[in-house]
Amino acid sequence: MSEIKENCGLFGIFGHPDAAKLTYYGLFALQHRGQESAGIATTDGRHMLSHRALGLVNQVFDGECLASISNPLAIGHLRYSTTGSSLIVNTQPLVVDYVRGKLAVAHNGNLTNSRQLRRQYEASGSIFQSSMDSETIVHILAENSGREERENYKHCLRQLQGAYSLLFLTTKELIAARDPQGYRPLALGQITSGLFSTWVVASETCAFDLVGAKYVREIEPGEILFIDAEGPHSERFVEEPETSRQHCIFEHIYFSRPDSMVFGDNVHNVRHCIGEKLAESDNIKADLVMPVPDSGNSSAMGYAHASGLPFDMGFVRNHYIGRTFIEPEQERRDIGVRIKLNVVREVVEGKSVVVVDDSIVRGTTCRGRVNALKAAGAREVHMRVSCPPIQYPCYYGIDFPTKTELIAGKHSIEDIRHFIGATTLKYLEKDKMLSCVSREPGSYCTACFDGKYHVKIPEGQTKTVLER
Ligand code: SF4
Repeated sequence: MSEIKENCGLFGIFGHPDAAKLTYYGLFALQHRGQESAGIATTDGRHMLSHRALGLVNQVFDGECLASISNPLAIGHLRYSTTGSSLIVNTQPLVVDYVRGKLAVAHNGNLTNSRQLRRQYEASGSIFQSSMDSETIVHILAENSGREERENYKHCLRQLQGAYSLLFLTTKELIAARDPQGYRPLALGQITSGLFSTWVVASETCAFDLVGAKYVREIEPGEILFIDAEGPHSERFVEEPETSRQHCIFEHIYFSRPDSMVFGDNVHNVRHCIGEKLAESDNIKADLVMPVPDSGNSSAMGYAHASGLPFDMGFVRNHYIGRTFIEPEQERRDIGVRIKLNVVREVVEGKSVVVVDDSIVRGTTCRGRVNALKAAGAREVHMRVSCPPIQYPCYYGIDFPTKTELIAGKHSIEDIRHFIGATTLKYLEKDKMLSCVSREPGSYCTACFDGKYHVKIPEGQTKTVLER
């Protein structure tokens, strides 16, 4: 677990009388992807109901109340935003009433050209109600509403650049789309029970397990899927070659749940392999290997398996704190570290420990953990990191700090080791990290490690295009 903030989570369902309640469950399974706000929009085919608010899913919704809504279609959204934009207007799904009727939109990712699009629309008199890049999508749809409806969606998507997994809900269909590079995951599932054939779409497949759906396939990069009473109908809005894929490797390193299938691989298996690779070139004589829970668990198991060192839990995580409880400034201080994780003194005292963490961002959280281990009597702390040093910001929807705030953006590995106070520090090399996923290495975005941004970033653009 690092200082990285989550991105967003999406869940959509077509053709189930309890669509709103199942969306609540789906969002529950995806809570790790965004903890600042939650929202659901649902329709009976004529009217659209929506509710969104700041907070965790179970703070925003009353499951019993949702059970009384018997609408067959719904979409839901979870959001993490940058500091300062935690406003109710910036929550999703965004619901609008335009010339074609009610429309709800839920977005995961970050549009790299939204600033230009927004300026263009504002110059011609459009009024925006939020600071979300996602709002430009509804302006493009509204401006071109004279086009044939499905063509209008495809035309709209062709105007967008950057990362977007999207769900649209109209009163008659559920629409899912994914950017041509496939930065963020989006998967299709199906519930087959009795009379219903229900289609579900979610950011991660762990949401399918909770609602009893089986995984069918990924929504392909550059694909738009229209789901109505006839079932799913797939079209492409761009013809991009497979070589332009740029799946966010950080979904495997940190964001996604280990029980999810993401970009064709199980996340636990990828992390386990990463731990094995970390151990392969290591010959540390330590007493045990332990994870920084939860995202370090699978990799620490892989490390233990490959090295033969015993695995133990030297940290215990408190699962009952919401993000809202810890302010970012507070999080950087030791109290933030101690609230989330506590050291099991009896495991680490007098021991030489290998600690496996997913990543190091600013370095302050990692330093707090090394300090806590030493204070509990650990003799040596060998930090092992599941990815290469993060040196560059992300423009595709992940809230990394700017280059100057990233510790590896301006310091050597030895400087970082010294700063965090570890006995030794090793990162996993990029080629070894990519050897643990099954697609071609070029299919994954690694821009935060190597600065190679596949989708062009407009000149002079700061880290985030618009707050979201
Ligand atoms: Fe993911 Fe890093 Fe690429 Fe952002 S820059 S999409 S975090 S791999």
